[in-house]
Amino acid sequence: MEANIEPDDFAPRLIAWQRTHGRHELPWQRSRDPYRVWLSEIMLQQTQVSTVIPYYLKFLARFPHVHALAAAAADDVMALWSGLGYYTRARNLHRCAQVVVQQYGGAFPQTVEQLAALPGIGRSTAAAIAAFSFGVRSPILDGNVKRVLARIFGIDGFPGDKRVETAMWALAESLLPAADDASNDASDDVRQREGAPVEPIVAYTQGLMDLGATLCVRSRPDCGRCPFAHACVANLTGRQRELPAARPRKAVPTRRTMMLVLRSADQVLLEKRPPLGIWGGLWSLPEAPDVDGLAARAAQLSGAPVVLAPLAPLAHTFTHFRLEIEPRLAQLVDEPRAAARDAHTAWVRLDAIGDYGLPAPVRKLLDALDGTLL
Ligand code: SF4
Repeated sequence: MEANIEPDDFAPRLIAWQRTHGRHELPWQRSRDPYRVWLSEIMLQQTQVSTVIPYYLKFLARFPHVHALAAAAADDVMALWSGLGYYTRARNLHRCAQVVVQQYGGAFPQTVEQLAALPGIGRSTAAAIAAFSFGVRSPILDGNVKRVLARIFGIDGFPGDKRVETAMWALAESLLPAADDASNDASDDVRQREGAPVEPIVAYTQGLMDLGATLCVRSRPDCGRCPFAHACVANLTGRQRELPAARPRKAVPTRRTMMLVLRSADQVLLEKRPPLGIWGGLWSLPEAPDVDGLAARAAQLSGAPVVLAPLAPLAHTFTHFRLEIEPRLAQLVDEPRAAARDAHTAWVRLDAIGDYGLPAPVRKLLDALDGTLL
């Protein structure tokens, strides 16, 4: 089944809906300053409007222009971003401000291509910044827009799939308001925003975002109030739950590691993990990929050859892989070597491991040991 709408009718209908029912009072809509538009668009990636608003206002108060943000200490930017998540965005935000200052003298470039070349700005975000700041006519295609298009036009396949995504970009391009309509012309029916005309491309781009955020939401879309209800394939065929298609499930890969429980009386040796990677910065057990490696580590840490005894294996599932852990126990007869105590290793009494930040499976392993040996 095809959508019951001509491509030429799509933009006028969306624009009319946005002007009447869309969002017009978001803090970043009060300005066409590309710095403010950019800041809001980066924050809105993967984060809801209600969460973004206080962060946006805090950032603007602290860094009122791109020069202030570029000159800020990285720690200050990260601290202000703290709680918003996806911290790569904050690092890119800071780098982008510095590039805009160094390469463009503090004035954001105006083309989608130049904007998309800046750190942290993909094609869709670049198009949104260009539309809202400079009235540039260019399609957006973020996750919300993919959902809207997949439903209205009945597009099968996972939108993250290259083939489906390419087709969606072409569709998004074909649906843009006509070039004449996207001019800076402030005709009678164009709403005025703080005295400035809102171009059709601005209302159109905002309309796509508003539709995806307010009506065509992931679960239980509000089709009864949707301007495309009469045309939408998902609505007409009852396939709202099926469209867009979910990411295909992949078999979760398995990784294996061996862990050393080096024990002396009622103490066990913990190691601090590096700050990046899984369990970054937590305390854990020494690891090696195989028995020989683990024996070598045990000898190095204890200062003498030791016997490794197997303990019950355990597994932990992460988002992208499953970790299978084979623990081995090495029991020391003598006191632990003083050399093993430093900022990255610690001998800890088993009844005091609760004071340390440990990964869940390691805690489980050590809890099982407490009081069972010696
Ligand atoms: S009719 Fe329903 S499913 Fe279709 S675009 Fe509108 S809200 Fe989304």
